[in-house]
Amino acid sequence: MKMQAFTVENIPLIKEGDDIASIICENTTIEDNDIVVIASTIVAKAEGRMFRLEDIIPGERALTIASKHNLDARFVQAVLDRSKEVLVDYPIFLVETHNGHVCIKAGIDESNVDVGYLADLPSNPDESTSRIGEAIEQITGKKISVILTDTNGRAFKIGQTGIAIGVYRIHPIKNWKGQKDLFGNTLEITEEAIADEIAGAANLLMGEGDGGYPVVIIRGLELRSEESSIQEIYRSDREDIIKKGLRCLSK
Ligand code: GDP
Ligand code: MN
Ligand code: MN
Ligand code: MN
Repeated sequence: MKMQAFTVENIPLIKEGDDIASIICENTTIEDNDIVVIASTIVAKAEGRMFRLEDIIPGERALTIASKHNLDARFVQAVLDRSKEVLVDYPIFLVETHNGHVCIKAGIDESNVDVGYLADLPSNPDESTSRIGEAIEQITGKKISVILTDTNGRAFKIGQTGIAIGVYRIHPIKNWKGQKDLFGNTLEITEEAIADEIAGAANLLMGEGDGGYPVVIIRGLELRSEESSIQEIYRSDREDIIKKGLRCLSK
Protein backbone atom coordinates (compact mmCIF):
# COMPACT_ATOMS: atom_id res chain seq x y z
CA MET A 1 0.00 0.00 0.00
CA LYS A 2 1.12 3.52 -0.63
CA MET A 3 0.11 6.99 0.45
CA GLN A 4 1.59 10.30 -0.63
CA ALA A 5 1.77 13.49 1.40
CA PHE A 6 3.08 16.75 -0.03
CA THR A 7 2.93 20.46 0.75
CA VAL A 8 1.36 23.10 -1.47
CA GLU A 9 4.14 25.55 -2.33
CA ASN A 10 3.90 29.35 -2.64
CA ILE A 11 0.96 29.99 -0.34
CA PRO A 12 1.21 33.72 0.54
CA LEU A 13 0.75 35.24 3.98
CA ILE A 14 -3.00 35.01 4.37
CA LYS A 15 -5.04 38.16 5.04
CA GLU A 16 -8.67 38.78 5.90
CA GLY A 17 -10.90 38.16 2.88
CA ASP A 18 -8.46 35.87 1.05
CA ASP A 19 -10.08 33.02 -0.89
CA ILE A 20 -8.28 29.94 0.46
CA ALA A 21 -9.85 27.53 -2.06
CA SER A 22 -8.69 29.59 -5.06
CA ILE A 23 -5.22 30.06 -3.59
CA ILE A 24 -4.87 26.29 -3.13
CA CYS A 25 -6.10 25.50 -6.63
CA GLU A 26 -3.77 28.10 -8.20
CA ASN A 27 -0.76 26.45 -6.57
CA THR A 28 -1.36 22.71 -6.91
CA THR A 29 -3.14 20.09 -8.99
CA ILE A 30 -5.99 18.28 -7.29
CA GLU A 31 -7.08 14.71 -8.05
CA ASP A 32 -10.19 12.72 -7.13
CA ASN A 33 -10.08 11.41 -3.55
CA ASP A 34 -7.36 13.84 -2.47
CA ILE A 35 -7.59 14.89 1.15
CA VAL A 36 -6.75 18.58 1.46
CA VAL A 37 -5.44 19.26 4.96
CA ILE A 38 -5.47 22.91 6.03
CA ALA A 39 -4.04 24.55 9.18
CA SER A 40 -6.80 26.39 11.03
CA THR A 41 -4.53 29.42 11.47
CA ILE A 42 -4.89 30.44 7.81
CA VAL A 43 -8.64 29.89 7.79
CA ALA A 44 -8.94 32.03 10.93
CA LYS A 45 -6.89 34.76 9.24
CA ALA A 46 -8.94 34.61 6.02
CA GLU A 47 -12.15 34.82 8.07
CA GLY A 48 -10.82 37.87 9.92
CA ARG A 49 -10.85 36.12 13.29
CA MET A 50 -7.89 38.07 14.65
CA PHE A 51 -8.32 40.31 17.66
CA ARG A 52 -6.31 42.50 20.01
CA LEU A 53 -6.15 42.38 23.79
CA GLU A 54 -6.56 46.18 23.90
CA ASP A 55 -10.20 45.73 22.93
CA ILE A 56 -11.13 43.39 25.79
CA ILE A 57 -12.34 44.32 29.26
CA PRO A 58 -11.82 41.48 31.75
CA GLY A 59 -14.58 40.52 34.18
CA GLU A 60 -14.23 39.25 37.73
CA ARG A 61 -13.84 35.58 36.85
CA ALA A 62 -11.13 36.38 34.31
CA LEU A 63 -9.26 38.43 36.93
CA THR A 64 -9.44 35.54 39.41
CA ILE A 65 -8.19 32.93 36.93
CA ALA A 66 -5.50 35.27 35.58
CA SER A 67 -4.15 35.86 39.08
CA LYS A 68 -3.55 32.11 39.52
CA HIS A 69 -1.45 31.99 36.35
CA ASN A 70 0.94 34.51 34.97
CA LEU A 71 -1.66 35.45 32.36
CA ASP A 72 -3.13 38.70 31.08
CA ALA A 73 -6.73 38.94 32.42
CA ARG A 74 -7.87 40.23 29.02
CA PHE A 75 -6.54 37.05 27.43
CA VAL A 76 -8.36 34.96 30.04
CA GLN A 77 -11.57 36.87 29.27
CA ALA A 78 -11.11 36.07 25.56
CA VAL A 79 -10.80 32.37 26.43
CA LEU A 80 -13.92 32.50 28.66
CA ASP A 81 -15.90 34.19 25.89
CA ARG A 82 -15.13 31.26 23.57
CA SER A 83 -15.84 28.51 26.09
CA LYS A 84 -18.91 26.47 26.89
CA GLU A 85 -17.24 25.18 30.05
CA VAL A 86 -14.00 25.61 31.96
CA LEU A 87 -12.89 22.04 32.79
CA VAL A 88 -9.73 23.01 34.70
CA ASP A 89 -8.68 26.58 35.48
CA TYR A 90 -5.35 25.79 37.19
CA PRO A 91 -2.54 24.61 36.82
CA ILE A 92 -3.65 24.24 33.21
CA PHE A 93 -6.42 26.30 31.65
CA LEU A 94 -8.49 23.65 29.87
CA VAL A 95 -11.84 24.49 28.32
CA GLU A 96 -14.47 23.10 26.00
CA THR A 97 -15.21 25.53 23.18
CA HIS A 98 -18.76 26.30 22.05
CA ASN A 99 -18.09 23.86 19.22
CA GLY A 100 -17.28 20.94 21.55
CA HIS A 101 -13.49 20.92 21.13
CA VAL A 102 -11.58 20.45 24.39
CA CYS A 103 -8.28 22.33 24.36
CA ILE A 104 -5.97 24.60 26.28
CA LYS A 105 -6.95 28.31 26.17
CA ALA A 106 -9.77 27.74 23.64
CA GLY A 107 -7.22 27.30 20.86
CA ILE A 108 -6.44 31.02 20.80
CA ASP A 109 -3.09 31.23 19.04
CA GLU A 110 -0.31 33.79 18.84
CA SER A 111 1.95 31.84 16.50
CA ASN A 112 2.11 32.85 12.83
CA VAL A 113 -0.20 35.83 13.39
CA ASP A 114 0.69 39.56 13.02
CA VAL A 115 2.48 40.96 16.07
CA GLY A 116 -0.06 42.35 18.55
CA TYR A 117 -2.85 40.11 17.29
CA LEU A 118 -4.29 36.80 18.42
CA ALA A 119 -6.11 34.32 16.18
CA ASP A 120 -9.26 32.48 17.13
CA LEU A 121 -10.20 29.07 15.85
CA PRO A 122 -12.89 29.31 13.17
CA SER A 123 -16.20 29.48 15.11
CA ASN A 124 -17.81 26.68 13.11
CA PRO A 125 -14.93 24.57 11.73
CA ASP A 126 -17.18 22.12 9.84
CA GLU A 127 -18.85 25.04 8.07
CA SER A 128 -15.50 26.64 7.15
CA THR A 129 -14.17 23.27 5.99
CA SER A 130 -17.25 22.55 3.87
CA ARG A 131 -17.21 25.99 2.28
CA ILE A 132 -13.58 25.51 1.21
CA GLY A 133 -14.16 21.89 0.12
CA GLU A 134 -17.18 22.77 -2.02
CA ALA A 135 -15.29 25.65 -3.63
CA ILE A 136 -12.29 23.41 -4.45
CA GLU A 137 -14.67 20.85 -6.02
CA GLN A 138 -16.37 23.60 -8.00
CA ILE A 139 -13.06 24.97 -9.34
CA THR A 140 -11.42 21.62 -10.11
CA GLY A 141 -14.38 19.32 -10.88
CA LYS A 142 -12.73 16.72 -8.59
CA LYS A 143 -14.33 14.95 -5.63
CA ILE A 144 -12.24 15.58 -2.52
CA SER A 145 -12.25 15.66 1.26
CA VAL A 146 -10.94 18.41 3.54
CA ILE A 147 -9.59 18.25 7.09
CA LEU A 148 -9.03 21.41 9.13
CA THR A 149 -6.28 21.01 11.74
CA ASP A 150 -4.85 22.63 14.81
CA THR A 151 -1.92 21.74 17.03
CA ASN A 152 -3.07 20.25 20.31
CA GLY A 153 -1.61 18.64 23.39
CA ARG A 154 -2.74 15.19 24.50
CA ALA A 155 -3.69 13.98 27.95
CA PHE A 156 -1.09 11.71 29.61
CA LYS A 157 1.68 12.48 27.12
CA ILE A 158 4.20 15.23 26.55
CA GLY A 159 4.16 16.89 23.13
CA GLN A 160 1.65 18.34 20.72
CA THR A 161 0.37 16.84 17.47
CA GLY A 162 -1.82 17.91 14.60
CA ILE A 163 -5.46 17.02 15.24
CA ALA A 164 -8.66 17.47 13.24
CA ILE A 165 -11.10 20.22 14.25
CA GLY A 166 -13.30 20.23 11.14
CA VAL A 167 -14.06 17.80 8.31
CA TYR A 168 -15.66 17.86 4.87
CA ARG A 169 -16.72 14.56 3.31
CA ILE A 170 -14.61 12.29 5.47
CA HIS A 171 -15.85 10.55 8.60
CA PRO A 172 -13.43 11.28 11.45
CA ILE A 173 -13.81 7.71 12.75
CA LYS A 174 -13.34 4.41 10.92
CA ASN A 175 -15.28 1.69 12.64
CA TRP A 176 -13.53 -1.72 12.72
CA LYS A 177 -16.20 -3.37 14.87
CA GLY A 178 -17.31 -6.66 13.37
CA GLN A 179 -14.19 -7.01 11.17
CA LYS A 180 -11.80 -9.93 11.64
CA ASP A 181 -8.20 -9.84 12.87
CA LEU A 182 -5.44 -12.07 11.41
CA PHE A 183 -6.61 -14.99 13.55
CA GLY A 184 -10.28 -14.74 12.72
CA ASN A 185 -11.28 -13.06 15.96
CA THR A 186 -14.01 -10.46 15.59
CA LEU A 187 -12.91 -6.94 16.57
CA GLU A 188 -15.26 -5.59 19.19
CA ILE A 189 -14.22 -2.08 20.14
CA THR A 190 -11.73 -0.59 17.71
CA GLU A 191 -12.72 2.78 16.28
CA GLU A 192 -9.77 4.29 14.45
CA ALA A 193 -9.50 8.09 14.67
CA ILE A 194 -8.53 8.50 11.02
CA ALA A 195 -9.03 12.28 10.76
CA ASP A 196 -6.63 12.82 13.66
CA GLU A 197 -4.15 10.36 12.14
CA ILE A 198 -4.23 12.22 8.82
CA ALA A 199 -3.94 15.56 10.62
CA GLY A 200 -0.89 14.25 12.48
CA ALA A 201 0.74 13.05 9.25
CA ALA A 202 0.08 16.37 7.51
CA ASN A 203 1.37 18.31 10.51
CA LEU A 204 4.73 16.55 10.08
CA LEU A 205 5.15 18.51 6.83
CA MET A 206 3.53 21.74 8.06
CA GLY A 207 5.71 22.06 11.14
CA GLU A 208 4.96 24.71 13.74
CA GLY A 209 7.26 27.55 12.80
CA ASP A 210 8.16 29.68 9.81
CA GLY A 211 8.00 26.94 7.16
CA GLY A 212 5.04 28.54 5.42
CA TYR A 213 3.28 25.23 4.70
CA PRO A 214 -0.31 25.54 5.90
CA VAL A 215 -1.73 23.14 3.27
CA VAL A 216 -0.83 19.48 2.71
CA ILE A 217 -2.37 17.12 0.18
CA ILE A 218 -2.77 13.46 1.16
CA ARG A 219 -3.17 11.20 -1.87
CA GLY A 220 -3.77 7.48 -2.20
CA LEU A 221 -6.41 6.88 0.47
CA GLU A 222 -10.01 6.24 -0.51
CA LEU A 223 -11.86 7.70 2.42
CA ARG A 224 -14.28 10.16 0.84
CA SER A 225 -17.73 9.89 2.40
CA GLU A 226 -21.04 11.64 2.03
CA GLU A 227 -22.06 14.11 4.75
CA SER A 228 -19.73 14.06 7.76
CA SER A 229 -19.12 16.13 10.87
CA ILE A 230 -16.39 16.57 13.44
CA GLN A 231 -19.15 16.14 16.05
CA GLU A 232 -18.95 12.37 15.32
CA ILE A 233 -15.64 12.31 17.21
CA TYR A 234 -16.73 14.02 20.43
CA ARG A 235 -17.92 11.77 23.26
CA SER A 236 -21.30 12.64 24.66
CA ASP A 237 -21.18 14.27 28.08
CA ARG A 238 -22.86 11.21 29.56
CA GLU A 239 -20.12 8.86 28.33
CA ASP A 240 -17.14 11.11 29.05
CA ILE A 241 -15.63 9.91 32.32
CA ILE A 242 -12.55 12.12 31.95
CA LYS A 243 -14.65 15.28 31.88
CA LYS A 244 -16.64 14.00 34.85
CA GLY A 245 -13.40 13.41 36.74
CA LEU A 246 -12.07 16.86 35.91
CA ARG A 247 -15.31 18.47 37.11
CA CYS A 248 -15.00 16.63 40.43
CA LEU A 249 -11.41 17.84 40.83
CA SER A 250 -12.37 21.46 40.19
CA LYS A 251 -15.11 21.51 42.82
P1 GDP B 1 -1.91 25.96 13.55
O1 GDP B 1 -1.42 24.57 13.89
O2 GDP B 1 -3.19 25.98 12.79
O3 GDP B 1 -1.94 26.87 14.74
O4 GDP B 1 -0.84 26.59 12.51
P2 GDP B 1 0.71 26.88 12.77
O5 GDP B 1 0.86 28.23 13.39
O6 GDP B 1 1.34 25.73 13.49
O7 GDP B 1 1.24 26.90 11.27
C1 GDP B 1 1.24 25.71 10.48
C2 GDP B 1 2.02 25.95 9.21
O8 GDP B 1 1.40 26.96 8.45
C3 GDP B 1 3.46 26.41 9.42
O9 GDP B 1 4.26 25.85 8.37
C4 GDP B 1 3.38 27.93 9.26
O10 GDP B 1 4.59 28.50 8.85
C5 GDP B 1 2.33 28.02 8.18
N1 GDP B 1 1.56 29.27 8.12
C6 GDP B 1 0.81 29.86 9.09
N2 GDP B 1 0.22 30.96 8.60
C7 GDP B 1 0.60 31.07 7.30
C8 GDP B 1 0.31 31.99 6.24
O11 GDP B 1 -0.44 32.95 6.39
N3 GDP B 1 0.89 31.74 5.02
C9 GDP B 1 1.74 30.67 4.81
N4 GDP B 1 2.25 30.47 3.59
N5 GDP B 1 2.02 29.80 5.78
C10 GDP B 1 1.45 30.00 7.00
MN1 MN C 1 -0.39 28.82 15.08
MN1 MN D 1 -3.20 26.86 16.51
MN1 MN E 1 0.53 24.05 14.35
